[in-house]
Formats: sequence, C-alpha cells, structure tokens
Amino acid sequence: MLWFTGLSGSGKSTIANVVVKRLRKLGIDVEHLDGDTMRSIFPNTGFTREARQEHIKRVGFLAAMLEEHGVVVVATFVSPYRAGRALVRKLCRNFIEIYVSTPLEECERRDVKGLYRKARRKEIKNFTGISDPYEPPRKPELAIDTTGMTVGESVDLVMKHIVSVRP
Ligand code: ADP
Repeated sequence: MLWFTGLSGSGKSTIANVVVKRLRKLGIDVEHLDGDTMRSIFPNTGFTREARQEHIKRVGFLAAMLEEHGVVVVATFVSPYRAGRALVRKLCRNFIEIYVSTPLEECERRDVKGLYRKARRKEIKNFTGISDPYEPPRKPELAIDTTGMTVGESVDLVMKHIVSVRP
C-alpha cells in the first residue's frame, strides 16, 4: 500500500500516475485510488473533520481489501488527519506512507485547479492549508518536497524506496 498524503497541488497524483505506469510495465497488478475519483463515487462526502474521517475509513477498507488479494494499491488522498492515516495503517499489511511535503507557498503558487484562489476569497470552506488544518506525518516512510524537483526525480525517489523495502 503506497499511501500518498499532502496538500492539494503538492504532487501526489502526478507522481502516483507515473509510479502506477512503471509498476504496470513490470507486470505488477496495481490499482490507483484517487481522492477526486472516490469523491465522485461517494458524492455526498463533505470536508468537515468527521466527513473526512468517514471518507478515509471507507477508502481505507477498500484499499486493504485489494491489498489482501495481492494488489499493489496506490492511494492519493490529502488525508490531513493523523487519526485517519493511522486507521488505514492498522488495516493494511504493508503500509508505506509517502508524505509529499511540498510547502503551502509552492502549492499555492502552482494552484493547479484554481482552488487556493477560491479558498483565499472564501468561496470554498474547509480548504486544507488555508481554512482547515493539515497534520504532517511524524514518521512517514518517505517524504518528498517536490519544490525545484522534476516529476521524474520525485518518481525515482518512490521507486528507489519500493525496491529497498521489497519483501
Ligand atoms: P495533488 O495530487 O497533490 O493535488 P497534482 O499532482 O494534481 O497535486 O499537482 C501537482 C502539480 O505540480 C502538477 O501541475 C505538476 O506538474 C507540478 N509539479 C512540479 N514539479 C513536480 C514534481 N517534482 N512532482 C510532482 N508534481 C510536480
């Protein structure tokens, strides 16, 4: 289970997409669970602490079930609360927490989806990093600050880690 956590725009999906492709090329069975996709499947999911906890619990269970069947799961969720991530860690056999630690200033400068702009104008509520907290992992298996790094370099760090802990 490769669990990517970090602020919106930190680089989780971009890195994960390439990691998924590389693993598939190696013939590995991979499923990518992504925050936006999961929210479109469970459309009534809100952004309060409780709603986020429920959401992470749901997708965490799904992910653990897939992992149980030998699928490598690549999950990309902001997952801002330690409690939520700790729950998923408990459910999984081999949980690798990848903290994409790109600082807020850089994520906001990228503003890939224009959400930071909206959050600053108070057009969106409970926006992580602006009007909602993010609790950074204390002991992630891997942390990557993508500032000034190419996507390829970030992907290589993940691949190197996977190889180093391969069971
Ligand atoms: P998230 O999934 O965390 O919300 P995205 O992957 O959607 O973030 O967006 C990250 C943005 O940062 C993309 O536009 C991507 O091209 C850019 N970026 C720049 N450098 C990197 C890097 N080294 N790794 C990942 N993304 C990067």
